[in-house]
Amino acid sequence: SDHSLTYPKCPADMDWASLYPAYVVEEPQDGSHDQKEISEGKGNAITKQVEIADIGCGFGGLLFALAPKLPDTLILGMEIRTSVTEYVQDKVRALRAQHTPTTNASTHDFQNVSCIRANTMKFLPNFFTRAQLSKIFLCFPDPHFKQRKHKARIVSYTLASEYAYVLRPGGIVYTITDVEDLHNWMVGHFEKHPSFEMVGEEELEKEGDVCVGIMRKETEEGKKVERNKGMKFVACFRRAEDPPWP
Ligand code: SAM
Repeated sequence: SDHSLTYPKCPADMDWASLYPAYVVEEPQDGSHDQKEISEGKGNAITKQVEIADIGCGFGGLLFALAPKLPDTLILGMEIRTSVTEYVQDKVRALRAQHTPTTNASTHDFQNVSCIRANTMKFLPNFFTRAQLSKIFLCFPDPHFKQRKHKARIVSYTLASEYAYVLRPGGIVYTITDVEDLHNWMVGHFEKHPSFEMVGEEELEKEGDVCVGIMRKETEEGKKVERNKGMKFVACFRRAEDPPWP
């Protein structure tokens, strides 16, 4: 149940500094700022904004694989289950602690990855400002097979509008599932949405995007499907430019 979940009133109310402490803006002695403050957030400001959201991140396989590949980008996992969120948060802490700049200078420090507990079907715009994100991952979402349960799916026309709001033009929604019916459902909803156009895996790879390959291999569910020699259905959608105001 998500009754105990609390949400920020707006993105500026989020305590980003406690999630990404290495990015907290240092207060110079003279009171001026030489680092650019981007995310005000509650408490301390941080120097970057979260750009990538992994929605329903589960045990965080994708997060931990992406973090070293995109070391300059802040990545956030969002997960509804308390124990699973805590597992990811503990792992983030452990990976950060393992990294000591003096002895492990060449390894990644995992300061750019974090995880929060949230029901992403509610209040996504309370976490992110308009056009904040460059990538959203929807990896192996729960299929909710029965017709009367379809409303619990994390893709719908309405949710596509929320994803479009938080995603910048040119940004990408990545989806993967082993359930063909859910794949068709996700493709159907994003394709009919005016803010999205489908983009092929090959086109993304040509643009130097490493994410589809990582998503296929590194999610826990992706590994399970691999072991069972199942099918994986991938579909990606690019956020279109908004039409000019009349
Ligand atoms: N993405 C991971 C992967 O590919 O291995 C986990 C996939 S698992 C089948 C689906 C996950 O989504 C579960 O961990 C579940 O708790 C989470 N989830 C389902 N509905 C959610 C929601 N509304 N908000 C956040 N997380 C959700």
